[in-house]
Amino acid sequence: MKEPSPGVLYLVGTPIGHRGDLSPRAQQLLAAVDRVACEDTRHSGLLLHGLGIQQKLISFHQHNQQQRIPELLQALDDGEAVALISDAGLPGISDPGEELVAATRAAGRTVICIPGPCAATTALVSSGLPSGRFCFEGFLPAKGRERQQRLAAIGQEERTSVLYEAPHRLLQLLKELIEHCGAERPVQVARELTKRHEQHVGPTLAAALQHFSTCKPQGECTVVLGGAPASEPEAWDADALRAQLQQLQAGGLSASDAARELASRSGHSRRELYALLHSAAD
Ligand code: SAM
Repeated sequence: MKEPSPGVLYLVGTPIGHRGDLSPRAQQLLAAVDRVACEDTRHSGLLLHGLGIQQKLISFHQHNQQQRIPELLQALDDGEAVALISDAGLPGISDPGEELVAATRAAGRTVICIPGPCAATTALVSSGLPSGRFCFEGFLPAKGRERQQRLAAIGQEERTSVLYEAPHRLLQLLKELIEHCGAERPVQVARELTKRHEQHVGPTLAAALQHFSTCKPQGECTVVLGGAPASEPEAWDADALRAQLQQLQAGGLSASDAARELASRSGHSRRELYALLHSAAD
């Protein structure tokens, strides 16, 4: 497909620090679309000016997106190619974008992402913590019960969690994470990724808190938190497990679905549970 194509919304990833991280494809596209929607026209104007790109910029942020979405859909209907960028990283990741993409898709229009840097994945892969399965938490609610509930859930989460936080709130977040996860939980705080003073601070919550209590957190920070230790499987009690399997089957599950269900609840292997169902009771 020719790029940019008329009537297509392009989500374009921009640098999270190092300007060299803007891809040649992103640069070419930003120069060639009919207009660029961005969070802050001054900030993005400087980025584009530095690249020698003159563009029609339109502001698109949290507080005007409801009004802008119909305007941008109309521009797409009129055959314009539109790019959406945020101040840094990927639009739609703790930045405006999600609602515009949903509305564009609902209108039957094409959305294409020109991928680029993202602080969450950059911090995750640099952390040395398990990256096979992870949860993105973004910014936690600022306070109240919702924040406490999210912290409690993070404390129990077995996958690696990635959180964004403003530097002046980092110490408070580390203290709260210690309350919910314990001081020895592994963590890496990635600071100023891709910039001159990039730094990774860990390896535990206690160590990160101690570091940032003496060196005031500055710049942008992403917290990569190791998961909770996997819960111990229940003790193997063949009679009790067989009875639970039979109960699940009586409820309408097939033998293999009953074994799968009980495996996820008990931590035992599905194969062993299935074999148990077909072995005679002692
Ligand atoms: N859309 C962006 C992305 O794709 O990563 C995230 C935007 S969000 C408003 C900004 C937050 O991302 C910052 O408060 C910080 O937690 C994280 N962040 C952005 N740039 C960063 C950097 N260079 N180093 C560490 N964290 C960064």
